[in-house]
Amino acid sequence: MLPKDLVAELMHFRAERDWAQFHTPRNLAISLSLEASEVLELFQWEDRQGDALAKILPRLREEVADVATYLTYLCADLGIDLDEAVREKMVQNRKKYPVELSKGSAKKYTELQGEA
Ligand SMILES: [Mg+2]
Repeated sequence: MLPKDLVAELMHFRAERDWAQFHTPRNLAISLSLEASEVLELFQWEDRQGDALAKILPRLREEVADVATYLTYLCADLGIDLDEAVREKMVQNRKKYPVELSKGSAKKYTELQGEA
């Protein structure tokens, strides 16, 4: 999802620090989850909207960048084409969530079956 030059910059950043040795799939998956939790932490105890959301936006920006960074490393190391994976997922999701059953509904696909 990131442009190739930015992915290359991330890989260079990691290589010049010799950090790939620490980036096992397990460690990257853990780090990805931890950074996603840091996003969630910003909303802990408060459903931030409006000014309260604007106040945390700089921190949110940093945390989503951390999530994107670890996701990029994980995909690059495992040979996952993220764009292609997302496109494939969209095909699956269109089948799981047909418009006629899911429009305006927050129900999980398993609860949509048999409706309409
Ligand atoms: Mg972070």
